Amino acid sequence: MSEKFSFQAEIQKVLDLMIHSVYSNKEVFLRELVANASDAIDKRKYVALSKTDLAANNNEYFIQIIPDTNARTLKIIDNGIGMTKEEVIENIGTIAKSGTKQFVEMARQLKENPELIGQFGVGFYSTFMVADKVQVVTKPATGEAASLWESTGDGTYTITAADKSDVGTEITLHLKPAEKNEEDELEEFSEEYTLKKIIQKYSDFIPHPIQLLTTKYEYDKDGKVIPGKTKQEFETANSQKALWTRQPSEVSKEEYTE
Ligand code: ADP
Ligand code: MG
Repeated sequence: MSEKFSFQAEIQKVLDLMIHSVYSNKEVFLRELVANASDAIDKRKYVALSKTDLAANNNEYFIQIIPDTNARTLKIIDNGIGMTKEEVIENIGTIAKSGTKQFVEMARQLKENPELIGQFGVGFYSTFMVADKVQVVTKPATGEAASLWESTGDGTYTITAADKSDVGTEITLHLKPAEKNEEDELEEFSEEYTLKKIIQKYSDFIPHPIQLLTTKYEYDKDGKVIPGKTKQEFETANSQKALWTRQPSEVSKEEYTE
């Protein structure tokens, strides 16, 4: 049984801005989802300091990125704090009170510069720049049931009871057709190479491993892929080092500006 809810009017306005955005720097959606995953991990680690049974297995925390080029989906998974059903409704669908007050100014700025979205506390909705359907399955560390949040950004979202064995959050983006980016290249967000580049550009310093599922091929001596030898494995795509702890010579101009 799924329950249907309406987005708060302000949220729907943000969604419409994202859905109809002609902005060419849509890749920032991944920075927002990774930041949320990282925050959720920090929260779980903090809670687990006093309630050790709420910690992750072996105290191992991770963010996983799983692209599927054929299905044109992208999954972002974390084993952070997760959300109860009430928290999902409160956090994804409602705007913080401070946000409501400054809403008109926020909407004006977002129209020009969607990349500022994270600063307004509504970063999650940037997913609708690249996806026409978003699903969130989440299970809270506190032991309550898992829920599925689902929306196409058309004014409503649904929440359904879900099955999820591990604590944390799994977000699935159903990707829109590829579009041109700032460099005038056709950008496909289910491609490993593109994702790796975006992670390194915006999320390299995130202090948890960002594990990108990559496909490894084996080639014969003529350079042809050997059938049946292809395998998929996770590859950590970020250095997890703060910029100021690295050698200046190792820091690219782009990273420095970022
Ligand atoms: P902000 O991160 O600035 O609060 P967002 O729109 O990015 O704004 O996210 C809204 C809220 O949704 C977060 O504050 C958090 O409570 C919740 N949330 C989003 N992603 C996750 C996640 N992966 N795990 C747990 N909670 C999340
Ligand atoms: Mg955020």
